[in-house]
Amino acid sequence: MLEKFKELKGQSGTHSPSIEVLKKELGCEIKIDACFLSNPYATDLFMDCLFGEKGSENGLRDLFEFYPPQNQDIAKTLSKSLNVSSKNLMIGNGAIELIQAILHRFVKGNISIPIPTFSSYYEFVPDGVQTYKFQLEASQNYRLNLKDYTRFIEENNIHNAVIINPNNPDGGYNTREDLVDFFEQNSHLDNIILDESFIHFAYESDELDLPSLETKLDLYPNVILIKSMAKDFGVAGIRVGYAVMQSNYVRQLLDTGYLWNSNGLAAYFFDLYSNESFKLKYDLVRKKYIMNTIMFINELSRLSGYEIIPTKANFILVRSRFGLTSEELMIELLTRYGIYVRDCSDKIGLEPGYVRIASRRFEDNVVIVDSLKKLQNEYLSV
Ligand SMILES: *Cc1c(COP(=O)(O)O)cnc(C)c1O
Repeated sequence: MLEKFKELKGQSGTHSPSIEVLKKELGCEIKIDACFLSNPYATDLFMDCLFGEKGSENGLRDLFEFYPPQNQDIAKTLSKSLNVSSKNLMIGNGAIELIQAILHRFVKGNISIPIPTFSSYYEFVPDGVQTYKFQLEASQNYRLNLKDYTRFIEENNIHNAVIINPNNPDGGYNTREDLVDFFEQNSHLDNIILDESFIHFAYESDELDLPSLETKLDLYPNVILIKSMAKDFGVAGIRVGYAVMQSNYVRQLLDTGYLWNSNGLAAYFFDLYSNESFKLKYDLVRKKYIMNTIMFINELSRLSGYEIIPTKANFILVRSRFGLTSEELMIELLTRYGIYVRDCSDKIGLEPGYVRIASRRFEDNVVIVDSLKKLQNEYLSV
């Protein structure tokens, strides 16, 4: 089983094999997908809206038959709900497309990337740009220390810096205040790329208000904000993301392409997102999911058989204290309990032994905690 999994994993590069591939190739039943990092309640909401409004054959037909709105038309729609001028907004076919475009077009000389992190940031760096990996410290739970990072940037004469907040795979979080300090001190950089793809799961107060820096960017023209909507809205399949950046960058990209890079369903999603009633409903499922996640993490932290890394995202790094490698832990959870988690052994800069477990629906989280408990008891009793 382990061998077969390794083979499948080898075929998917630095990303995980999909549930469909695993089902077909391993023949094991996956009851809970805790590998993919989405809010399932938000997917429910999107599906309700889609089938409520567009459910008729004609409604869907319109989305498929006609060209979707152009990039800047979608940006105008999104602009209203974000309070960001459409001139500063670029719509992507998923955030990945924008990460690639920005790295290729606007990053020159060198770039610093904290590791461990989302692999595309270092994989897509073009030839001729030197990558400086900034190792996050295991002893500090992989929290990005922005003062140390600033020093690293100075010492190495860095021109472009990446920050992912909260970070993937560890969920480390920096407050808005600390980030603004960082922007102030690094205004000389060509670009600061801030990825807020998981910001909807983070919070700084009991009200769980959204701690995004989106509306502050006017003050920091060298900051490029990248936002995937795949995870917080649970809609990875329709490829929706955007970037907020200086208008001159948006113009340069649009002048050479990206005219119809979204599809009909993505355009429908952006329409929904600018609808006040949808936003209110979404905010409820966002907060409900954060509350679930907080409970889930609390329960996990009580299991004596595992070590965890504190997180402000919707996932958590977990490592066994009873001698299983990350691959073994992943396979045990998959074959005994039908729970699919992310083996993080390929994450550069992360100590070995960790799997990443996503928070799912309340009842699924209960099953995950129970299964981990059963597994630890079995190993610790022998
Ligand atoms: C998943 C992920 C993305 C990519 O998002 P898509 O919108 O699916 O392309 C970007 N950044 C981070 C940090 C991610 O984890």
